[in-house]
Amino acid sequence: MPSVVEVTQPAPFGAKLKQKLAQTQEKASRDFRSDVVTVPTEDMMSAIVDASVGDDIYDEDGDRCVKALEQRLIELTGMEAALWTVSGTQGNQICLRTHLTQPPHSVLLDHRAHVHCWESGALPVISQASTTTVKPKNGVHLTLEDIKPGIIADGNIHFPPTRVVSLENTLFGTILPLAHAQEISQYVRSLPQPEGQKPIAMHLDAARLFDGVIGEGVDIKAYAACFDSMSICLAKGIGAPIGSVILGKRAFIERAKWFRKMLGGGTRQPGMMAAAALSALEYTLPRFPLVHKMTKDAAKQLEAVGYKFTLPVQTNMIILDLEGAGIPSAAFVEYCAREKVAVFPMARLVFHHQTSETGVKNLITALTKLMEDKKNGVALEDKKTSGGYS
Ligand SMILES: *Cc1c(COP(=O)(O)O)cnc(C)c1O
Repeated sequence: MPSVVEVTQPAPFGAKLKQKLAQTQEKASRDFRSDVVTVPTEDMMSAIVDASVGDDIYDEDGDRCVKALEQRLIELTGMEAALWTVSGTQGNQICLRTHLTQPPHSVLLDHRAHVHCWESGALPVISQASTTTVKPKNGVHLTLEDIKPGIIADGNIHFPPTRVVSLENTLFGTILPLAHAQEISQYVRSLPQPEGQKPIAMHLDAARLFDGVIGEGVDIKAYAACFDSMSICLAKGIGAPIGSVILGKRAFIERAKWFRKMLGGGTRQPGMMAAAALSALEYTLPRFPLVHKMTKDAAKQLEAVGYKFTLPVQTNMIILDLEGAGIPSAAFVEYCAREKVAVFPMARLVFHHQTSETGVKNLITALTKLMEDKKNGVALEDKKTSGGYS
């Protein structure tokens, strides 16, 4: 009888694993679909092998690596308490559910907000909440001027009062500047507290918070201070395999644990994934400026060959205006594929710490050829396309 676990390789880093890592990294280096496509580094694999194997539910003090990760994010943001969650969607929805108590109630947010558009309609299902969506007048980010008329006060039984203002930084790669977050937060926190209700909560979908604050060059603690809760993705620019962390006051996080459990987010041995995330965080934090520079340099090259963007290029994303250029999305995907570059038809290019110079060169080659062919009247593939995620 062969043993159940067949040990074919004495060390965890045999040639086979190294080759596998190199292959996946090469694939990620030319993948512009999202920043979730990054793959483990050798450091991360070592961290996983060395991780604690505690039970995050049974063990009274939780798991050591999960605690270390939560503690590191507390340290970085200056918030009081933190909690590991499985995904960003789960993190956002747990935060909103924890703030909201009983309908009628509504959440005010940007009309493009992930919480509203990209989370399978979770908000009305999980929190029974209505939404008030607001369009930024400047076309990029919300300001206090946009928010003010959207707030629904208590008192008129026709309308569900605003209980949470939910902001997002970054949104499609654009920054919600600190000064505006502060203005909005100060205003919302100055509103009178309705009798028998909690004050309106400030939530931040902080999926790409580090892109936002590093891109703007502002203090992360000052940013976090504007909010009662935040949900930070570890699997985006930070580069972890899975996970998010939510942050808030201690009592808020204690309450959030109930909703995490309810939503299937109470996990048994997440130490390995937390260790991976912590290793990723330390590795990528100093690299955000390099990723942003690479993105902006590529944007300049694309502009030079005739591309325009629907949003300013401020962090790690370029949103191409293909419609304006009269280029069908199917041709965009096809021309990139010819150069072994992966993109979504939604015409968003996302850069990350494993994006390589060769990957960018091939991307520029593909898109230059596409624009030339467009200008020369070459017939471009125009079949229906679908796909794309945030
Ligand atoms: C990715 C993302 C999330 C969370 O998404 P998951 O795929 O559930 O981790 C939340 N907000 C924004 C802005 C995002 O980009």
